[in-house]
Amino acid sequence: TTAQDQVQQLCLTVQDFPRPGISFRDLTPVFSDGPAFRAVIDDLVKPFTGTFDLVAGIEARGFLLAAAVAYATGTGVLAVRKPGKLPRPVLSESYSLEYGEAKLEIHQDDVAPGTRVLVLDDVLATGGTLAAATALFEACGAQVVGCAVVLELTELQGRLKVQQYPVHTVVAS
Ligand code: IMP
Repeated sequence: TTAQDQVQQLCLTVQDFPRPGISFRDLTPVFSDGPAFRAVIDDLVKPFTGTFDLVAGIEARGFLLAAAVAYATGTGVLAVRKPGKLPRPVLSESYSLEYGEAKLEIHQDDVAPGTRVLVLDDVLATGGTLAAATALFEACGAQVVGCAVVLELTELQGRLKVQQYPVHTVVAS
């Protein structure tokens, strides 16, 4: 079976989480299944093989993806953090979520200019999260080679917020 099939079979939908009216896609069972997780990692990175020096994962589920991709490809890994977690001076980017405001941070000196960065997250919804993360790398003078997510919720058109980059999704639904 393909990564697409595994995600479709294992992903759960939870109504009214974390707020009434929101239909939350839960990828926990995809990540906890060994063959499915490996297939997802292989699929995520495939279009970008050899094009990046550093893989960034967005807190928190993006960390799991980025670490696996980094190990599989021999690149470095970087955690894009929620506010207040990093000990040294940060670059910070605010954005709006489906529900409320949020912020992402990296250290000012984490990424050298010219570094080729692949940005990963689990779900692409409205696109605000990925757009904020890519803005952080642009602010460092890095080159964002693309974004990849396991699941894209196409009706929210989040892809438009990162349309300047190649965006690869294992499953679009
Ligand atoms: P966006 O900024 O609206 O694209 O939301 C994407 C971010 O919110 C990602 O970091 C996701 O982990 C999280 N997210 C949004 N919707 C879902 C969902 O249905 N399931 C899991 N995570 C979600």
